[in-house]
Amino acid sequence: MNPIKPEDAFKNIISHSKEYGFIFQSSEIYDGLSAVYDYGQLGAELKKNIRDYWWQAMVQLHHNIVGIDAAIFMHPTTWKASGHVDAFNDPLIDNKDSKKRYRADVLIEEHIGKLEDKIAKEVEKAAKRFENFDEAMFRGTNARVQEYQKKIDEIEARFKQALNDNNLEEVKQIILDLEIVCPISGSRNWTDVRQFNLMFSTSMGSVSEESSTIYLRPETAQGIFVNYLNVQKTGRMKIPFGIAQTGKAFRNEIVARQFIFRMREFEQMEMQFFVKPGTEMEWYAYWKQARLNWHLSLGLGAEKYRYHDHVKLAHYANAACDIEHRFPFGFKELEGIHSRTDFDLKQHESFSGKKLQYFDPELNQSYVPYVVETSVGLDRLFLSILSSALKEETLEGGDTRSVLCLPPALAPYKAAIFPLVKKDGLPELAESIYTTLKFDFNVAIDEKDTVGKRYRRQDAIGTPFCITVDHQSLEDKTVTVRHRDSMQQERIAISALQEFLEQRVSLKVLLKTL
Ligand code: ATP
Repeated sequence: MNPIKPEDAFKNIISHSKEYGFIFQSSEIYDGLSAVYDYGQLGAELKKNIRDYWWQAMVQLHHNIVGIDAAIFMHPTTWKASGHVDAFNDPLIDNKDSKKRYRADVLIEEHIGKLEDKIAKEVEKAAKRFENFDEAMFRGTNARVQEYQKKIDEIEARFKQALNDNNLEEVKQIILDLEIVCPISGSRNWTDVRQFNLMFSTSMGSVSEESSTIYLRPETAQGIFVNYLNVQKTGRMKIPFGIAQTGKAFRNEIVARQFIFRMREFEQMEMQFFVKPGTEMEWYAYWKQARLNWHLSLGLGAEKYRYHDHVKLAHYANAACDIEHRFPFGFKELEGIHSRTDFDLKQHESFSGKKLQYFDPELNQSYVPYVVETSVGLDRLFLSILSSALKEETLEGGDTRSVLCLPPALAPYKAAIFPLVKKDGLPELAESIYTTLKFDFNVAIDEKDTVGKRYRRQDAIGTPFCITVDHQSLEDKTVTVRHRDSMQQERIAISALQEFLEQRVSLKVLLKTL
């Protein structure tokens, strides 16, 4: 298999998504809405399968995790308590010439990224030159590398200080001092830096007054925190236990230009695990590993994932990391695992005046539990899977095929049934096979074009098996099954198809690897 070149990969994924009905720009006939997307007929299936796999791995495989479905609208005080009203901001800056808006922190981080690239180039050059190359030693002694590193450290320290002091003038000054230019206009004609709250607001009821302002939730987690006691009591949950949820979240992102990587309306899959204070680091380590294993179980390549441990922690966290995925545009955050202490529950206690404690029968005492959270974006996960699965293959004879090597359990269609010709009773036999399989699997029937073209179409949408019904099928009740990845074919009895698929395409296959 030849993976597509990185520079073309992202464009290919976007056009492939549209061409085959995975993802469309929202309201496209009105020229679209920025950073909002619709899932088409195949996208909706793939997304549902990914969500189901997550849900079953979390809820069904853990006797102490239950799932809920909280509303998008929540009492506005929720967002005061969580800190989102006062601190869910991005520092933004506009270029006066291009009129383009940027996140000030992203401009500075990209500048640091360029310096890091320079270091990487020096390391690469030296590695080629010397045998038994010791990278750590080289980084520690090479004058040029040291100089770049010194610059990086200085910028980071200055920037961190500016953010801690909420000193937006200093943030602008850093951008000016680093001579950062707008990538569109090339100018340094910047506005002041302003804080921009990422929450969307609307008003409830008929009068739009200050008091009736409510928010579209920017994360699903708070729906779990405010229901912590409801679930614990009615479900008679004993610590440690978890509450899982999937659902829409909304953020008015300033920089949202990477397809479904960063959207203004997206879906999260979060789980809050409530633990005894003092045991949170063990659980943090457990979930960090468990979530990486889940991603690895998809079989898309271990080299595509890595951890990024946070050095700078949010004030409420005592440990945090991201699982990063290698997207076509580089390694980026896919999922966050955070040890959030008792911050959220304590905040809700103090804003609501209600106790949110747990009586621990073993200790014979009550406490506010600590929380370890796993939080992954479903759309981002979708993109990670789609971009790793899409391959361009050169076949014998020079032909090429696009093949979407999805894990079979996630594929929109598990099999496609082809009557070889549209006569002689073959369509009827195909229909009867479809009728027996449809209760367990999402199966397609495809009668149009040559079998070769039908194979290409199904390869491009990731269907793991194509079942061809031919004249021999009428006589001996067997069909040809063709495997998507190897393109190998085998003859199978129609009566054995059900079990053949069950063993290869059901979610159970993935769940059992966890
Ligand atoms: P980022 O640094 O990329 O903005 P974040 O740290 O703000 O992400 P969290 O608040 O931890 O993200 O949200 C958890 C997960 O939700 C992320 O790991 C990501 O997968 C997903 N997510 C967050 N923002 C978006 C978005 N705008 N579009 C799509 N997915 C998102």
